Amino acid sequence: MTTESLRHCPACNQSFSEEFAPSHYGVTHRQDASCLNPDCRSLERHRLLWLYLQENILTNDKNMFFLEIGPTRSLKNAFKRYPNVRYIGMDLISKRANVRADINDIPFADNTFDIVVCYQILEHIYDPILAVRELKRVVKRDGKAFFQVPLNIDLATTSSPSSSSPREREILFGQEDHLRVFGMDFEELLREGGFFTQCIDYAGRFSSEERKLMGLKLSYLIGPKNSPYTTSEKFYLATKT
Ligand SMILES: [Zn+2]
Repeated sequence: MTTESLRHCPACNQSFSEEFAPSHYGVTHRQDASCLNPDCRSLERHRLLWLYLQENILTNDKNMFFLEIGPTRSLKNAFKRYPNVRYIGMDLISKRANVRADINDIPFADNTFDIVVCYQILEHIYDPILAVRELKRVVKRDGKAFFQVPLNIDLATTSSPSSSSPREREILFGQEDHLRVFGMDFEELLREGGFFTQCIDYAGRFSSEERKLMGLKLSYLIGPKNSPYTTSEKFYLATKT
């Protein structure tokens, strides 16, 4: 990293002389979000998770079995630098998936994975508690699962799932394939799914200069264009014991 670097992505370990690209998911676009490396394209949450994994999980060369639901280019490629990690990306449709399966019926035995990542998935699923229970089943007894969802920090209770039209869902939630907006009771859902949980404000441990350099945000606006809501970058660490 040189002093001229304006942005640095910890996931692909590359530096750039310009800001990150805007994010175009949903209807609320945000600036300075997506890594410029076409083999990475990490967003804020992926860079933050990678920093956490590097500092807390990938600290030795112990063999590890890792499952990402909805595989991202950034994590899939970042793990190539760790030959001790066996990476599985699971999805029903994504081309990046090396296992095609439903989150409610994961084709692996109980207690298989050391680490599971389920980021921005549960808002697409009709019954998220069922999915959380299935993830708990495949996490090892001493394993860890990481969750993040679009969460309105001003909403106490998660909205009911909506089976309205894609257009209506886009107006309500900002993305046509989102079935709900989560509220601050999200952690209770993980507990109902059988996990012990911890909410981690990892971005908060970096200085504002470090956050700017690595494109980490504490919070940002997402959701419908005319009534966006503030979501937090905090993530949830879930364990079985
Ligand atoms: Zn990158």
